[in-house]
Amino acid sequence: MTEPLFQIYAKENDRIIHISEASADRRFRYTCPACGESLIVDKGPNGIPCFSHRSGKPCENGIRHSLCLGTTVMLSLHKPMTLPPVTINFPSGREPILLSPGRTIEFDCAQLDTSINDNLPVIIARKDRKELYVAVITQPLFYLEDIEKIIDSGVSTIVLDLREIDCSLPQDQLEERILRGKNNQFWIFNTLSDYYLKEFIAASERYRIVRWGDYLHTEYCPLSLHTRNNHPYADFLEDCRRCRYFISQSSESVQRKYIHSDFTGEYIYCTGKRQISTLRDLEKYKITE
Ligand code: SF4
Ligand SMILES: [Zn+2]
Repeated sequence: MTEPLFQIYAKENDRIIHISEASADRRFRYTCPACGESLIVDKGPNGIPCFSHRSGKPCENGIRHSLCLGTTVMLSLHKPMTLPPVTINFPSGREPILLSPGRTIEFDCAQLDTSINDNLPVIIARKDRKELYVAVITQPLFYLEDIEKIIDSGVSTIVLDLREIDCSLPQDQLEERILRGKNNQFWIFNTLSDYYLKEFIAASERYRIVRWGDYLHTEYCPLSLHTRNNHPYADFLEDCRRCRYFISQSSESVQRKYIHSDFTGEYIYCTGKRQISTLRDLEKYKITE
């Protein structure tokens, strides 16, 4: 079972400190980065040291803000962060294409920003003038619309899921888990991946899906997998869903985002006519276009 999160970062004057750097001597002044209230060094679950609000009142955002700020401090101190691999994920569900393997990066600077979305704080990290957003999740529930707001900003964004982070870990192990953990990071938007997906869709043809009895047929399949009355077609479920040229099915969100049209009929986008299934195929096509 996951241990509950507790407050392990606090403000001391203008800096954020970890609980291991704090003193139980009450002459030291610590404050909550979320509500500004005074904090004391206390004992948390299983007697593990943590910060508590001196007033004893619950603080809605204390844990979330302090974990986000702790992570921001790690990144601004140029601690290496391992980014997940970048892939093109096709709306059709066909096998993704790997664009770059996971890599470790040391950022030049980082700052916490709650103006993009107060419910889901975002760390803006910069490297060589390029920005990356790190959206930190610490609460059991978060809303898709909060994530969509961040995606709409058009900046590559990683979700850092700290809901199951063990707050009792020593500082160096905590840093390892947060910045280089294996399963707690994923891209929700990547500009390179988005660029290539748009290119694949632009190189596609649109084919209509029609219902014939119990079957869904894709008319005029460029691979002519079957014919009926001299017209080529493919079985949508059996053929298209397994085909490397199947890029996307028409859907409202794909239409709006990539095709800039309100049309939402039953179509697929397929690169079978030009036989483009890999990045190399796409590059070749673009040269000869
Ligand atoms: S996705 Fe494949 S099977 Fe379906 S119409 Fe295109 S080329 Fe044919
Ligand atoms: Zn607080």
